[in-house]
Amino acid sequence: MAEQYDVVIAGGAIMGSSTAYFLKKELGFAGSVLVVEKDPTYARSATMLSAASIRQQFSTPENIRLSRFGIEVIRDLKGRFGPDADIGFHERGYLTLASSAGEAILRANHLVQSAEGSDIELIDPAEIARRWPYMSTEGVALAAYGRSGEGWFDAWMWLDMIRKAAKAAGAHYAHAAVTGIATAGDRVTSVTLSDGREIACGTFVNAAGPSAGDVAALAGIALPVEPRKRCVFVVHCREEIEGLPMLIDGTSVASGVYIRPEGQYFICGVSPDEATDARAGEDDFEVDYPLFDDLIWPALATRIPAFEALKLVRAWAGHYDFHTFDHNAVIGRHPEISNFVFCNGFSGHGIQQGPGAGRAVAELIVHGGYRSIDLSVFGYDRLVSGRPVVEANII
Ligand SMILES: Cc1cc2nc3c(=O)[nH]c(=O)nc-3n(C[C@H](O)[C@H](O)[C@H](O)COP(=O)(O)OP(=O)(O)OC[C@H]3O[C@@H](n4cnc5c(N)ncnc54)[C@H](O)[C@@H]3O)c2cc1C
Repeated sequence: MAEQYDVVIAGGAIMGSSTAYFLKKELGFAGSVLVVEKDPTYARSATMLSAASIRQQFSTPENIRLSRFGIEVIRDLKGRFGPDADIGFHERGYLTLASSAGEAILRANHLVQSAEGSDIELIDPAEIARRWPYMSTEGVALAAYGRSGEGWFDAWMWLDMIRKAAKAAGAHYAHAAVTGIATAGDRVTSVTLSDGREIACGTFVNAAGPSAGDVAALAGIALPVEPRKRCVFVVHCREEIEGLPMLIDGTSVASGVYIRPEGQYFICGVSPDEATDARAGEDDFEVDYPLFDDLIWPALATRIPAFEALKLVRAWAGHYDFHTFDHNAVIGRHPEISNFVFCNGFSGHGIQQGPGAGRAVAELIVHGGYRSIDLSVFGYDRLVSGRPVVEANII
């Protein structure tokens, strides 16, 4: 066998590049690292097609901690990545609206968030109307607003910055797909690439995003992570809508529709109905326009009447790295094939958790255990024992 790397990572977007960055740069891993990426344009990666937003409004402490580390990295971009580092961060907060049915959950989440040190406040409809006078409070019992530590950024600048830093620290990148994984006993021994190369590896990291289930299957491992289509619509509004945060309308008026500013426009979307949500075909990036016409637009116009006159500018579809078991990450070593490491299944909140997840995987490899945030709750063994992580705030 010609080539050998200590760590081979399948997928070079936010999870793969963050893992490589933390290994080589921040944890000073002396071994060799190869990131295998089948499409170095990343055009169809979840990372590039995401809404690139970061929040602390989760109900699971570990999710909050991962995202808080994302914020810590964003706040120290120049310290970590150099004086020119910039990802176009807009720290404008999430505003989550709840109806009376969702009020208790919002209050319970708020207790967890506050205990974690997040700067989230609960506000009533009168206060919403005072701060955002263009917004109707129909159906709203309570809202949560992130005063700091939440917002959005440019996905490509984020990925490009971390990927370049990983390369500069000595990680190698190969343009190929991982097409085979050989195992012997309890170990991965080598991977086969689409260009025919066979590469021996000490540790294999699955960072293949929506394709993670397929990559795990190459090693005979069942991982219920699959591509699920999510559409993002770019709209223009004639009227000035000043200071809109990332609005998550969790009331029955809008069934989870979100909208946030994007330059002179806004981007918006919604998760499809669970009954119709299904695995997306690998090449299916067709936009589901009826979702906009039938659900999103009417909901937006009800919540912010000025959106009645909005104009659809363009739209795209991306694939969530959707974990069908509990919509949360799977991180850590496979219980039997011990040098197979997962960094998968973030289901809509992965771009913000990239640094936290990448650091965690790097710690497992370098130190043999978690050092910063204990993420054992997201281990693969919960799939075996049937214990889902219940996160009340999945978008
Ligand atoms: C529409 C949309 C909106 C989103 N909004 C947000 C948001 O606002 N905030 C947030 O935190 N998250 C959001 N997400 C989720 C987030 O984008 C993902 O969780 C995260 O980007 C996953 O990163 P990844 O590196 O695991 O996967 P990806 O970015 O998909 O990268 C996987 C990479 O692996 C490569 N690959 C696949 N198979 C192979 C193989 N066999 N060999 C080699 N390479 C391979 C792919 O080419 C790809 O580049 C959103 C996702 C979508 C689709």
